[in-house]
Amino acid sequence: MTERRKVLPGISSQLKDHLIRQVMERRLRRAGQSPEAPWTDAERGEGDEAASRIPEAWWRLSLHPGFQQLRIMREGAASLGLDNPYFRPHEGVAGSTTRIEGRQFINYSSYNYLGLCGDARVSAAAKDAIDRYGTSVSASRPVSGERPVHRALETRLAQVYGVEDCVAFVSGHATNVSTIGYLFGPKDLVVHDALIHNSIMQGIELSGAQRRSFPHNDAAALDEMLARERRHFERVLIVLEGVYSMDGDFADLPRFVELKRKHRALLMVDEAHSFGVMGGRGLGIREHFGLAGADVDIWMGTLSKALAGCGGFVAGEAALVDNLKFAAPGFLYSVGMSPPLAAAALAALECMLAEPERVRLLQERGREFLRRAREARINTGTSSGYAIVPAITGSSIRAARLAQALFQRGINVQPILYPAVQENSARLRFFLSSQHSEEQIRSTVAVLAEELEAL
Ligand code: PMP
Repeated sequence: MTERRKVLPGISSQLKDHLIRQVMERRLRRAGQSPEAPWTDAERGEGDEAASRIPEAWWRLSLHPGFQQLRIMREGAASLGLDNPYFRPHEGVAGSTTRIEGRQFINYSSYNYLGLCGDARVSAAAKDAIDRYGTSVSASRPVSGERPVHRALETRLAQVYGVEDCVAFVSGHATNVSTIGYLFGPKDLVVHDALIHNSIMQGIELSGAQRRSFPHNDAAALDEMLARERRHFERVLIVLEGVYSMDGDFADLPRFVELKRKHRALLMVDEAHSFGVMGGRGLGIREHFGLAGADVDIWMGTLSKALAGCGGFVAGEAALVDNLKFAAPGFLYSVGMSPPLAAAALAALECMLAEPERVRLLQERGREFLRRAREARINTGTSSGYAIVPAITGSSIRAARLAQALFQRGINVQPILYPAVQENSARLRFFLSSQHSEEQIRSTVAVLAEELEAL
């Protein structure tokens, strides 16, 4: 038992957690502040003498505020008896099951939605690409990094989106940063759903555009905001996700298409968690709603989830893709995608199209998980059951404890803690896969309900 637990006998564990959290939050706030400058502007001085007065925190990496906060969080977790759930090495393909430290787990912490990472055909395509092209293209695409497999992937993606063209980047995160960062500037406005992914936020910051968020999935609030704000800006971009990565719900996309037309704005949809997941053939939120490719200006997706690779893409009109290929820094000044990754994503896409039962199974398993969880009165928030189902615990400490209890019982699921989500909506996030069996889902929800009760 820790020191803190000994000095707080007889109070409920919830109250103890609350007190520990308060202390931690105070320490974290303090650690996040940089020290004051030890001089006023007038006293700043010059040369060696001025340098000797520079606070250590400004030139020692070990005193970086972020690192200080990390240290405090680790100490806090240790004092609560929590193991570190991060960076655990998985010893094989992570699908509906995975092996960690020699032990087999039912796995809900990987977005291998269609079970195509580890599929023999996908691996064979990657190996074949290595045999032809090696492991790196050794240059940026415009210079001498272009390989046929890049265009084959992009052309196929453009085709399934029903748009003119597509460009693939080496990272999904970098796709958003570079695309938004390049296309928009200080006279523009980017409005985004309140729960939008970090990569979008980083892109907006880089662009220098003004930024506003509207409440989650609230089209009426966006409409009002645009009625007020639209005329003060040149270009306006609205950004949504297909399936939201922490909550597993999605927007009424046709309504947002109407709004972007009404207000003469551009619309971007990040399909990281909806491509391969929604629609009868896995073609995403567009297929789900029966929209045309041209209804959305910028389709963005990642290759790292349903498509079993690594990288991101933007699909849309030829002018958009051409522009990005010749000017977006994350494309122009970065190496081309590694050939085995492009080949793996293309092979996974073909498997998905040839085997729509994978998509159907993923959707069934998600619905089944959600139904059982709701029956067990687990707080699943607004999840629609498409691939992501949260179990909201209400505090980071409870989420971490619950994840640890499940891990001990052979279930691997990641806790999502503050600041990734609001502290009061900390959660476990269950990623479903087409490979999960009904039995795995049944037993998982039963264990989850038991451990929640015991918390
Ligand atoms: N967008 C969303 C919505 C995401 O959830 C993620 C990461 N999971 C990304 C973009 C970044 O994609 P990647 O991990 O492939 O870089």
